[in-house]
Amino acid sequence: MLDYFEPPVRRVFPKGWRECSHWREPVCIGRYVVTCSSLFAGARAKTDGLLPPPDYGIYLAGQWREKLGDIWTNGATIRSVARERPYPALVIDWMDMAGMTPDKLNQLVEICRNKMRQGKSIDIGCLQGHGRSGTLLACLLARVEHLSAARAVEEVHWRYCQHAVETQSQQKAVEEYVRQYGIRRR
Ligand SMILES: [Zn+2]
Repeated sequence: MLDYFEPPVRRVFPKGWRECSHWREPVCIGRYVVTCSSLFAGARAKTDGLLPPPDYGIYLAGQWREKLGDIWTNGATIRSVARERPYPALVIDWMDMAGMTPDKLNQLVEICRNKMRQGKSIDIGCLQGHGRSGTLLACLLARVEHLSAARAVEEVHWRYCQHAVETQSQQKAVEEYVRQYGIRRR
């Protein structure tokens, strides 16, 4: 289990964040494309069998275990995604709204980069696909494209969703990660 960076600090959400329905939504990271998913959106996805499953999942909320467990145990069907091939995934327990330590973020970023370099499609997800997923996306983007933390978060808002990176703790986690592990363009 991963450590928490610091207790979550809730921020005021802009209107509309609940209406988002991110399900295997493509996001450009350098010359790669990753997808982002909300577990909630997956449960009501109307795209059964239309979106191919990823080669690898990186899920930042423990609730994904149940969903993936269904895939693995049945080998075929989960609640809303019919007849999908099972795929391996890393599921971590990252508290909702909380930040994450730079070293743990670095581990996650490096797992993503390795898979991407191997040509594997990866899907990053949490519950809404905003806070935890947005935080990892911003770190990955900063690392791959050599961006500052502020620019990486801004780009995640443009390329993916304006509601991504939900709390001050998560914003701070991106800043700390970039300070320790980011490579700035000269
Ligand atoms: Zn959204």
